[in-house]
Amino acid sequence: MPAIVAPPARVDVIGQELALAWSDGGESFIPLEALRRACPCAACKGEPDVLGRGENPRVSYGPQSFELRGFKFVGGYAFQPTWNDGHESGLYPFALLRELAA
Ligand SMILES: [Zn+2]
Repeated sequence: MPAIVAPPARVDVIGQELALAWSDGGESFIPLEALRRACPCAACKGEPDVLGRGENPRVSYGPQSFELRGFKFVGGYAFQPTWNDGHESGLYPFALLRELAA
């Protein structure tokens, strides 16, 4: 289990990056394209089959796939972005956001 990470105090889109200000004073910057490619939802990452092998379906991206339309926080533990191509099923635990920015 990843460490529990408190929600970011602020989230902004600056240029092509997501900028996060954490309540401990740290800041993270994640390129939007990297954020989308790291989408943890089942459609993007696939789910392991019965033998535990991960199937990674062919995910196709367009120019709108890396444009952030909006976002919300879910359940106090995750960030849910909505992309301009309509994709919004990815739930990014805050700990994952910190990892992506590392
Ligand atoms: Zn996804």
